[in-house]
Amino acid sequence: MQPLKDASIVQADARNIRRAVDILRAGGLVAFPTETVYGLGARAFDGAAARRIYHAKGRPSDNPLIVHVDGEKMLELVVRRVPPLARRLIAAFWPGPLTLVLEKATRVPFSVTAGHQTVAVRCPSHPVARALISALGEPIAAPSANRSGRPSPTRAEHVADDLGKRVALILDGGPCRLGLESTIVDARGCRPVLLRPGTLTPEAISRIASISFASSGRAAPPSPGTRYRHYAPSCRVKLITPSAVRSGIIPGFRRRDGLLHISRWGGPRPAFVRRVSAGSAAYARALFASLRAAEKAEVQTLFVETLPERGIGRAVMDRLRRAAES
Ligand code: AMP
Ligand code: MG
Repeated sequence: MQPLKDASIVQADARNIRRAVDILRAGGLVAFPTETVYGLGARAFDGAAARRIYHAKGRPSDNPLIVHVDGEKMLELVVRRVPPLARRLIAAFWPGPLTLVLEKATRVPFSVTAGHQTVAVRCPSHPVARALISALGEPIAAPSANRSGRPSPTRAEHVADDLGKRVALILDGGPCRLGLESTIVDARGCRPVLLRPGTLTPEAISRIASISFASSGRAAPPSPGTRYRHYAPSCRVKLITPSAVRSGIIPGFRRRDGLLHISRWGGPRPAFVRRVSAGSAAYARALFASLRAAEKAEVQTLFVETLPERGIGRAVMDRLRRAAES
């Protein structure tokens, strides 16, 4: 394989998608937009290429990758069988931000699944991601295109900031529409088990597909990636309640600090402030970009307003709590 050149951000047009396919066929890495976050992709059937993803990200080797397909036919190359529950979920939610954990096909290398007999598969709805997978004609293994532990990238520049020369090409498809990673469910049994919350909520899945979730008790080990420290910018992140925001009094808040909020702020204007207009979907979309912007503004501590743990708020709070862990 050719040594990687400097990362270049290019417009995601047909010519550059062909360049990306050539790089993937040669075993290289390409970053591309999806509706959730940017992914760092390699050919899913190439174990050595998949290992380059772990290396580029500094990702622990026991944290498996998500395989991206362009539809149900390609899914069948990746899994041993597609159980009825998975068919129902696919009919209702693919393409979209729903990842299914199923039994892996022999052909999927263990470097992709981190040694597991299961594989996580998703069909993204973003036109660039779809075009890239279809042009390659094969599944693409792709975790989020950030250095391990950092906030996920929701713009092409975030990928370049984190990975630089470690990625050969970054297809720029503009800001991601959803801004948080996919919902992951184990779809091997009769009922889905939630492994990671996302913007597609269990309530919406239950309602639309008329399926009830199995409780994620002892039977369901959480998604391996949820064990690790994650989503952290270089500044400290502290969570604050809406009432603290409204009061304008935050213990320990100094002028050099930053604020990410929804509620009306009652205090003096800090060095960095970002207000998200309204609603948990807008908050999800803005979250990772705001963490990165606060870091660029060199704030010492970013105070972030919490959301109620309902609907999309559950996924936002999952990411926020881990960003705030020290
Ligand atoms: P990322 O794309 O960066 O969000 O990382 C992929 C996520 O998918 C990680 O949290 C993994 O733990 C999870 N994942 C991948 N494969 C599996 C699997 N076989 N079972 C459970 N979770 C998985
Ligand atoms: Mg990730």
